[in-house]
Amino acid sequence: MNKIEKWVEKRETKQYPAMTLQDIEPATTSLIVIDMVNGFAKQGALYHQNIENLIEPIRQSMKGAKAKGIPIIGFGDAHEKNSVEFHIFPEHCVEKTEESAFVPELQEIGTDVWIPKKSTNSFLEEQFQEWLKENKQIDTFIVAGDCTDICILQFVLSLTAFFTKNGQEKRVIVPVNLVDTFSHNDHPSEAVNLFSFYLMEQAGAELVEMKNI
Ligand SMILES: [Zn+2]
Repeated sequence: MNKIEKWVEKRETKQYPAMTLQDIEPATTSLIVIDMVNGFAKQGALYHQNIENLIEPIRQSMKGAKAKGIPIIGFGDAHEKNSVEFHIFPEHCVEKTEESAFVPELQEIGTDVWIPKKSTNSFLEEQFQEWLKENKQIDTFIVAGDCTDICILQFVLSLTAFFTKNGQEKRVIVPVNLVDTFSHNDHPSEAVNLFSFYLMEQAGAELVEMKNI
């Protein structure tokens, strides 16, 4: 077995601690749901089944959060028609189209704050910066959605670095069963997820398995 195979085997068999929403303090927690919009979970150039499969487990967690009064912050891609991001990815989630809307199953539960985003990094949105300033009591962030290696990774790395810079001890929790990425030959989701989990762990995020109550 070579070095890479050994690393993969070790990471693949890693058990993440189980967690339920009972284990956290609702008054100081928020649930962040990223990019569960139609353009990734239902239709369009960047649709993938893996993302559609996240709808139900995320719906369960959102229901649990709502019942406990945990605020839910939703982010969704909403690009301008000629976004420079379309030089990297095919056109997707143009603002005010069906693709940029929260999937109906999650819309039904609703978010407390909805933040349209113009890049892969939700952290950069001014509306989120304002929300952070106004909600200093929040010390636990549970992050769910897609894609593990793009929007989830960038948000988690930015958030953890931001708190470190400000000397704030906050928990950033990523349930491995509430995030995923697309899959094809050059981008096998199993390997991409493993490496993304590793990078987030290295940045101080807690990786867990979210169980329903
Ligand atoms: Zn995008």
